Amino acid sequence: MANKFNYDHYKTVPDPAEKVNFKKKKPKLIAVVDEDNCTGCQVCVPFCPVDCIEPTPIEKYGIPIPPVQVRHDECIGCQICAKVCSKLTWDAIRMIKTKTFEDIYDITLSG
Ligand code: SF4
Ligand code: SF4
Repeated sequence: MANKFNYDHYKTVPDPAEKVNFKKKKPKLIAVVDEDNCTGCQVCVPFCPVDCIEPTPIEKYGIPIPPVQVRHDECIGCQICAKVCSKLTWDAIRMIKTKTFEDIYDITLSG
């Protein structure tokens, strides 16, 4: 018998990462968390294939559930976290061009 519930709206959400990989080259896009908008739910964390999303240091905001941040030098720009956040929880992650990111923050990412 067919399941009476329809889960089609979850179709574009990928599965959580099965194993952790590592960056091989500099990506075209980088994930940036809008920390003012992030609830700190950490739903995105297990989906990141390179495990580079972590809570911000507790002292930064001084609140029990701090927002998350991306270790940008490890991000491979896969966009999974942004999809997961917008589909399952909030909409707190933006993908921006790596070059733009480097210009804004005046840093050069490895890769
Ligand atoms: S899923 Fe979205 S709201 Fe939740 S911790 Fe990740 S970025 Fe923040
Ligand atoms: S885009 Fe998101 S899920 Fe993909 S590597 Fe970067 S932080 Fe992880």
